Amino acid sequence: MAGTFTIHAVQPPIWQQLAACNRESPAAFYPPIGAEKKHERLARERVAKSICAGCSVRSLCLDQAVANDERYGIWGGLTADERRSLGRSA
Ligand code: SF4
Repeated sequence: MAGTFTIHAVQPPIWQQLAACNRESPAAFYPPIGAEKKHERLARERVAKSICAGCSVRSLCLDQAVANDERYGIWGGLTADERRSLGRSA
């Protein structure tokens, strides 16, 4: 109908709706803007990985990250470097 608009909300895939990180701050999963010292990065990654360890959709998350070549952040309990290592050894 002319002059009217329909807005369709885009729902994330069901696995993302079940993600344990939905209830957490993204700060643990991505580096801050600016410098991050090594001990800070390791501590942040430990927090994120502990959340991922209890996530029921971890394998789906990791599959998507690898398939999409996600270059930043913790996905499926792995850092970007760890995901790249998976790709090389596969
Ligand atoms: S595995 Fe980690 S990053 Fe992936 S959805 Fe679960 S909590 Fe989030």
